[in-house]
Amino acid sequence: MELNISPLNLPGISPDIRPIVISGPCSAETEEQVMRTATDLHRHGVRIFRAGVWKPRTKPGGFEGIGEPALPWLTRVQKELGLLVATEVATPAHVEAALRHGVDILWVGARTVANPFAMQELADSLRGADVPVLVKNPVSPDLELWIGGLQRLNQAGVKRLAAIHRGFSSYEHQLYRNRPLWHIAIELHRRIPDLPILCDPSHMGGHRELIAPLCQQAMDLGFRGLMIESHCCPAKAWSDAEQQLAPEVLAGILQRLTIRTEQPVTDELADFRQRIDQCDDELLNVLGRRLAVCREIGQYKRQRNMQIVQPVRYNEILLRRGEEAIPSGLSTSFVRELFERIHEESVLQQMQEFNVNSESCGLPQEGNTEC
Ligand code: PEP
Ligand code: MN
Repeated sequence: MELNISPLNLPGISPDIRPIVISGPCSAETEEQVMRTATDLHRHGVRIFRAGVWKPRTKPGGFEGIGEPALPWLTRVQKELGLLVATEVATPAHVEAALRHGVDILWVGARTVANPFAMQELADSLRGADVPVLVKNPVSPDLELWIGGLQRLNQAGVKRLAAIHRGFSSYEHQLYRNRPLWHIAIELHRRIPDLPILCDPSHMGGHRELIAPLCQQAMDLGFRGLMIESHCCPAKAWSDAEQQLAPEVLAGILQRLTIRTEQPVTDELADFRQRIDQCDDELLNVLGRRLAVCREIGQYKRQRNMQIVQPVRYNEILLRRGEEAIPSGLSTSFVRELFERIHEESVLQQMQEFNVNSESCGLPQEGNTEC
């Protein structure tokens, strides 16, 4: 299904500006905190203010947001400072209240986008409302779920859409709170070129010192904008205190960003690309040869009733190739992942050999799930 996207058309924001900056606290806490943060941001040139009013918490017992009583504070920000205001909605009741209070931009959070029922209810509640909606990636790295959420809104007539890459949660504790998987956002852009994509480095990084490098990376990859959490007194924030920036720190980061543009192809770049194309030709050729050998092995093993996977051999390949990565100028994790994927395909091809030549009903072939 094609998406029918219109430009975001944000009043007072030039359509070509990059990055579009949306900033403000994780949560609206008090009227004073909202007004102080918004006033400082305004002084530093920010034109779109964000504040969470309904907060999705992973566990009960945390601060779950002020709710509807905070919406008039956002109206004050609009009226007194002339900023556009944005908040998160997760239910039709949130949509109704936010629209009633004239909120300019809505966003849908990662936990909500992960639930198709919730997305459909939101879409139905937005039918006929001409408001821009920003859709964060779902918590898990599922591009189809992200696109599905965008499609549901679009089918309900929401055309002013954008996506926000806020990173993906993972089980292991690691550097990032939510790991950026840039290639998923790049693929989203390839699939829906008209859809603006913003980056939320705050929920990706989870720590203040990671925000600046993430912003620069997002710009270098061509993202249209940034949603960054800021707070007049970050250390005292009621939610996400570790990742919020003081408005003047945010301003410093934005000032130091290098904004590179997509340049026309130069002769030198064309030469580089020709060299890359040659490498890719060789890679395909080698992979084709490798998989042809795998199919032969498949036949050999089937004739001798040998099982397909021999774990010792698989382990050996991963370890040896992983060790050879560094001297070849590659990273161990990349080489391991690459060989895991190659091995997976080799096993599938061998299974196919077993299946094709087997009397019994083996694994269904692709596109034929009945046997
Ligand atoms: C937020 O923006 O405050 C938020 C809760 O984000 P996410 O949905 O990305 O976790
Ligand atoms: Mn937050």
